[in-house]
Amino acid sequence: MEKLLEVKNLKTYFTLKSENFGVKPEVVKAVNDLSFEVNKGEILGIVGESGCGKSTLGKTILKLNHKSGGEILYNGSEIFDLSDKDLKDLRKKMQMVFQDPFSSLNPRKKVGSLLAQPMKIHNMGTKEEIEAKIDKIMEEVGINPVYKGRFPHQFSGGQRQRIGIARALMLDPEFIICDEAVSALDVSIQAQVLNLLLDLHDKYKFTYIFIAHDLAVVEFISTRILVMYLGKIVESADKNELVKDHLHPYTKALFDAFPVTDPKGRENREPVLMGDVPSPINPPSGCHFHPRCPRVMDKCRLEYPPLKEVSPGHKVACWLYE
Ligand code: SF4
Repeated sequence: MEKLLEVKNLKTYFTLKSENFGVKPEVVKAVNDLSFEVNKGEILGIVGESGCGKSTLGKTILKLNHKSGGEILYNGSEIFDLSDKDLKDLRKKMQMVFQDPFSSLNPRKKVGSLLAQPMKIHNMGTKEEIEAKIDKIMEEVGINPVYKGRFPHQFSGGQRQRIGIARALMLDPEFIICDEAVSALDVSIQAQVLNLLLDLHDKYKFTYIFIAHDLAVVEFISTRILVMYLGKIVESADKNELVKDHLHPYTKALFDAFPVTDPKGRENREPVLMGDVPSPINPPSGCHFHPRCPRVMDKCRLEYPPLKEVSPGHKVACWLYE
């Protein structure tokens, strides 16, 4: 398969302001030495609890955050080395759909104006062409174009997210990052928006990175899944392989947290995860998951396990699979 995006040893660190004079400022390692690839046309799901760094990763890939190290190659070119003009051209191809459509849409602008904005910024099309594009895209996302004179607050949450998706489509992108794009929606509306994203993928062959904390959502839409914990990838595999044979105790805990209708289905399950994700300012020594891991060993407290390929395309960072 043809690679679209290569992320190599990417780091995004944030230095916190020190409250006390002479005290070394603390550093949050939000993305800590990640490497992965995204192939053209695939849907890569990234899952992990809140605070694991997945949204920071998405924003860094689009250069909406700084990077502290590593490389992000899009079609072979380092995004952070592009000139302003080349970056502006690339931004047409790379779009983002945010979690909260209400705060990502300007409440004082009508929907038609919000959708026209990306084409105007990039000097694309005449007034008539922009209007025709708005009508076409609104129909494609399931919103009647007669409503383009309405304000965002006059739509439901699901409709607003459809408008957020429409805005991402206005520039005919090839790569879209959906950051918790359905997390704020009711479950029935989530399914509609996920199906819309899949229909658009079938039609336009977009490449997606789909970021979410809900494994069920990621499993539904993705073709391949990365599991993140405290800024690092702990497991990655093809979706079907991961569902069948999840290896890392953290991934097992995420799968085992799925509700079951039959209590017998709880047999052989790992205990449900205890406690919160530790602070990325001062992560636990060795394997960062060790304070919550039911399979912890002495070695786990001392050394971080490398991300190792255990079968073709299936990688895991855990000393159980040395
Ligand atoms: Fe658990 Fe050790 Fe594996 Fe970390 S390396 S997930 S602590 S068994």
